[in-house]
Amino acid sequence: MESNLVVYNTLTRKKELFEPLNPPFVGMYVCGPTVYSDVHLGNCRTFISFDLMYRYLLHLGYKVRYVRNITDAGHLEGDRDEGDDKFSKKARLEKLEPMEIVQKYTIGFHDVMRLFNTLPPSVEPTATGHIAEQIEMVKEIIENGYAYESNGTIYFDVEKYSKEYNYTALTNRNIEELLANTRDLGGQDDKKGRLDFALWIKAKPEHIMRWPSPWGWGFPGWHIECSAMSSKYLGSTFDIHGGGMDLAATHHTNEIAQSQACHHSEPARYWLHTNMLTVNGTRMSKSAGNGFLPGELFTGSHPLLTRGYSPMTVRFFMLQAHYRSTLDFSNEALEASEKGFKRLMNACALLNKLKASEVTDVDINSIRTRCYEAMNDDFNSPVVIAELFEAARIINSINDGKSSVNAEGLESLKSLMNDFVFNVLGLKEETAETDDIGKLVGFIINLRLEARANKDYATSDRIRNGLQELGIQLKDSKEGTSWSKI
Ligand code: AMP
Ligand code: ZN
Repeated sequence: MESNLVVYNTLTRKKELFEPLNPPFVGMYVCGPTVYSDVHLGNCRTFISFDLMYRYLLHLGYKVRYVRNITDAGHLEGDRDEGDDKFSKKARLEKLEPMEIVQKYTIGFHDVMRLFNTLPPSVEPTATGHIAEQIEMVKEIIENGYAYESNGTIYFDVEKYSKEYNYTALTNRNIEELLANTRDLGGQDDKKGRLDFALWIKAKPEHIMRWPSPWGWGFPGWHIECSAMSSKYLGSTFDIHGGGMDLAATHHTNEIAQSQACHHSEPARYWLHTNMLTVNGTRMSKSAGNGFLPGELFTGSHPLLTRGYSPMTVRFFMLQAHYRSTLDFSNEALEASEKGFKRLMNACALLNKLKASEVTDVDINSIRTRCYEAMNDDFNSPVVIAELFEAARIINSINDGKSSVNAEGLESLKSLMNDFVFNVLGLKEETAETDDIGKLVGFIINLRLEARANKDYATSDRIRNGLQELGIQLKDSKEGTSWSKI
C-alpha cells in the first residue's frame, strides 16, 4: 500500500511520511480519560482529533487497531508519586465506592463521545483490568536493572537509564536543566534521584484501591499502565502513539523510558500530540476551574454563553482548527461555526435534489484532489472544510441554474461530500428535534438561573421538579448547570 500521508512526529520534530510497520495494519494507542469526573471540552478536543485521524486512516483502507485506555487507578493528585489517588478522593467526597465513581464517569464519557459522533476504539482496556501485566512489566524493568525498591515502592532509575538512552528525546529538553528545575523533596520520599518516578506504589493503610504484588500491597503508577496495555494489544513497537501535548513532557517521556528499559525498543514510531483548547487564552483544565462541560454547552447554561450549541456545531468548530494549533473557545466563534455547519448541511440536503444536465461547467475532481492533499498534510481539516465550502457554493450555484453538472459530475459531487463531510470529518445531520429540545431546555435552565439569582427559590424548584416529571434531570455544579434525560 502506497502512502502519501505525512504526519508531524513530536519525536523527530518534523513532518514525516507515514509508513506503517506491517501495512495494511496500523496500531494506534491514545491515552484515554482519567474517569474521576466529567470530561471537559478540552479532553473532548483531543479525542475528536484522534477520531479524525482514525477515520482518515480507515478511509485510506488501513486496518487500524485503535486502543484507547480508561485510566481507573493509579493517577495521583497533581500527577505525583505520593498521596491520594483521584478516584479514592472523589469516592470519599461523593460517598461512593471508587468503582462506582469509575462506572459513573466512564458511562458519562461514552455518552459524550457518542454525541460527538466519534467511533469507538477497537479495544478500550482499563488499568484495573491489567494489574498482572503491569506487575510483570515492573518485574522485568527491575531485572534489567532500571528500577529499585524502596520501602515497598518501586522507582524507575532515571539517572541510570539516561546514561544509556536519551531520556528527554521526546521533548528535547536538557536533562541538566530539568534536574535543576525539579524540586528537591528534601527526603520526603524514598527516591534516589529527583527525576525518578514510581512504577508501583506501596498502599498506605487508608488507601482503598490496592492489589497484592511481589513487593506487598500496592497499586500501579499512572505511566506503567499505558506501557503495559499498549504493548499487550499492539506489540512492543507499534505505529502511532497519541495524546494531548501536556502529556509529552512527563507521561509519554516516562512511557518511552519504561518500554525501552523493558523491551529495549522504541514503543511507537510516530508520536502525535494535539494542542490545547483554551478559554481566553488559558488552557481549559479541571484544576484551573475553567472547564466547560459538554452538557453546559449544549444547553447554553454556562455563564460565558448566550445560548446552546449542538454537538455537531461543536465538532465542526473543533475541526475548523488544525489539531496542532491552539483553539480558543468563545461564544462568537461557536456562532460562526454554527452558520458554517448549517451551510454545509444545507448543501448536502440540496445535493440529493439536484438534477443532472448534459454538460458540466464545474470542476469537482480538483476539489477532491485538494481535500486529499490537505488530509495527507498532517490531517489539515481546516483546509478540507474550506474546500467543502467551495463545493457547497457550487451546489448552490447549480441549484440556482447558474452552473450545471452532468450525471457523472453529480455522482462525483455526491461521493466527495459523502467521503469527506460524513466519513472523514465525521459530521452528521442533526434532527431538528434533538437540536430544538437542547435549545428549549437551555432556555428553561437560564430562566431558573435568573430565578435563583433573584432568590426566588420556589420558582427555581418548580422548574427543576417540572423538568424532572418530564424526564429531564438537571445537575448543578460549581461550573454551572447541565441536564440529561432520565
Ligand atoms: P485526563 O482525563 O486529564 O487524563 O486527560 C485526557 C486527555 O485530554 C489527555 O490526552 C489530555 O492531554 C487531554 N487534555 C486535557 N486538557 C486539554 C485541553 N485543554 N485541550 C485539549 N486536550 C486536553
Ligand atoms: Zn497514557
